[in-house]
Amino acid sequence: MATAHEGDGALGDVIDPELPASTYVLEPEIVAPLVRRVVTSHGAGTHRSELPFTGAPLAAVPLSSPQDVVGATRAARAAQHDWAALPLRERARVLDRLGVLVLERQSEILDLIQMESGKSRRNAFEEVADIAQTCRHFVRRAERYLADRREPGALSVLTGVRVHRRPVGVVGIIAPWNFPLTLALSETVPALLAGNAVVLKPDPQTTLSALWASELLAEAGLPDDLFAVVAGGADIGAELVDHVDHVAFTGSTETGRKIAARAGERLIGATLELGGKNPLYVAADADLDRAVPGVLRACFTNAGQLCMSSERLVLHERIAERFLERFVPAVRALTLGTGLDYTADVGSLVSADQLERVAGHVDDALAKGARALVGAVHRSDVGPYFYAPTVLDDVPDDAACRHEETFGPVVAVTRVGGDDEAVRVMNDTHFGLHASIWSTDVARARRLAARVETGTVVVNDGYLHAWGSAAAPMGGMKASGLGRRHGREAIEAVTETQSVVAQRGHGLGISVDALYELGGDVPSRVLTGALRAMRRLRMP
Ligand code: NAD
Repeated sequence: MATAHEGDGALGDVIDPELPASTYVLEPEIVAPLVRRVVTSHGAGTHRSELPFTGAPLAAVPLSSPQDVVGATRAARAAQHDWAALPLRERARVLDRLGVLVLERQSEILDLIQMESGKSRRNAFEEVADIAQTCRHFVRRAERYLADRREPGALSVLTGVRVHRRPVGVVGIIAPWNFPLTLALSETVPALLAGNAVVLKPDPQTTLSALWASELLAEAGLPDDLFAVVAGGADIGAELVDHVDHVAFTGSTETGRKIAARAGERLIGATLELGGKNPLYVAADADLDRAVPGVLRACFTNAGQLCMSSERLVLHERIAERFLERFVPAVRALTLGTGLDYTADVGSLVSADQLERVAGHVDDALAKGARALVGAVHRSDVGPYFYAPTVLDDVPDDAACRHEETFGPVVAVTRVGGDDEAVRVMNDTHFGLHASIWSTDVARARRLAARVETGTVVVNDGYLHAWGSAAAPMGGMKASGLGRRHGREAIEAVTETQSVVAQRGHGLGISVDALYELGGDVPSRVLTGALRAMRRLRMP
C-alpha cells in the first residue's frame, strides 16, 4: 500500500484543520474513497488516527454526529424489509462472494490492519482467514439454522405448531480496535444472512479497516444502506444502542455493563463479548516439544491484545522447570518489528494508553515482589509502543496483573501440585472467557475442561482452533460476557422466534371451543383423560 510523503496533496475532501495533509502517512487516494463511506454530516468533526509503529499521524477520519446515527439506522431499517424478503440463497450469494473477495484482496486489508493496529502481518492474516471461514460456514449452514421447526402442540393431534425465525431488524455492532476486520464482519455475516441490516461503530483508531469491510460488502453485491459505518467514541456507541433492535458489543467488561444496562432499558437483546484473564494449564504429561511453541502463540499473538490470550500460565510442578528452561529462551527469541511483511513475530501495542496499562501492570507486580524471567522492558528502540514479551514469576496476590486483564504481552506463572489444584487456580477469577489445557491424555483433558468455568476450552492449542471453529459457540461465562458468537447461537441472537399455533380440527367442529360448549364438568373430565393418555403415551 502506498504511503504519503512530504508535499503530497490534500486528503481528498477530508481535512484535519489542525494538520497539513502532507503530514499523514496514508495516501489521499487510499483514504478518500474509504472515508466517503462514513455516515457523517457537516460539522461532526474529525478523528486523527495514528500509526502505532511510529506514532505518526495516519489519517483524518470524519466523525458521525448523533443525528447521523439516527439517519443511518433509519435508512438501514428501510432497506432491511426488502432484504429480508429476498430468498435466503440470494442473500447467501452476497456473503459467499464476500468470502472470496477477502482472500483475493487480502494484501490491501493486511496493510491497513497493520497500519491501524500495529500488529504483525501474521496476526493480521488471521483476521482475513477468519472472515473467509465465517462466510463459508454461515453460507453453508444458514438454511439449517434458519429453518422452520415443527413442535408438538397443546393437544398433539388437534394442534399444529410451527416455529419461524424472523430477523430482529437492525443490528448494532460496537467493536474495539484489536481485531479491526474480524470484529467488523464476524457478527455482520450471520446478521445479514438472517435478513437484518447492520450499523457498525468501530473504534476510532481502526475505522478505516471497517470502511474497507463496507467497501468489500458493496463489491460483493450488498444493496445500499444494509451495512453502514458510524464513526466516533462512547457517545456515538451509546446513541447507536438507542436506535437498534439488538446490540452486539465486543470490548471491556466495564463498557459491557453500561451497554447491557442501556439495552435492558430498551428491552432489546445484547450479546456481550468482554474481557478475560485466561488460564493455560500445562499438565505433567504434556508434550513439551509441542507445548512450547503453542504456548508462545497463546500468550503473545497480537502482542497479547487478544481477548482469548493466555495471561495465567499454570504449570504442573513436575514439568514446570523443564518447561520454563525452554519457554523463556523462546520468548526472548521472538522478533519484534514494524514491517508490512511476514518478518516479525510480534507487533506493537496499539497506543500510548495501552503501553501505559501494560507497563503499569508489570511495574506494579515487580514493585510488589514479582520477578521477571524475561522481558519487562519498553522496547522504544523498535517503536514508541512496543513492549517486550514478558514472563513474570512469584506474582503476589495483591498485584493488579494477578486478577485484572492486562491485555498485553505479559504472562504470570503459577505452579500447581496436581490437576485438582490446577482447576481451582484456573477458576479463581471473576472472568470466564477461555482456557487452554495441554496434555497427551486428551480424554483426561476433556474431563478437566468440563470443570473449568469458561465459555471455550481448547486442548493442545492456545486459541486458534477455538476461535476458528465457526460452528461452535464462543463467548464468556461470569464477567466475560453474555450470549455467544459463532454457530447456531449467532443466528439465534439476531432473530426472534415466532410460534404459529393452528387448531387443526376447527373446521370439523373438533376443538377446545366445541368441548367447552358441552358445559358442566364434561370439558374437565375429557381433558383429564386426554392429559393422562398423553403422559402414558410419553408424548412430549
Ligand atoms: P472498550 O470497552 O473501551 O471499547 C470498545 C468499544 O466500545 C469502542 O468502540 C468504544 O468506542 C465503545 N464504547 C466505549 N464506551 C461506550 C459506551 N458507554 N457506550 C457505547 N459504546 C462505548 O474496550 P477496548 O479497551 O477498546 O477493547 C479492549 C477490550 O475488549 C478488552 O477488555 C478485551 O478483552 C475486549 N475484547 C473482547 C473480545 C471477546 O470476544 N470477548 C474480543 C476482543 C476484545
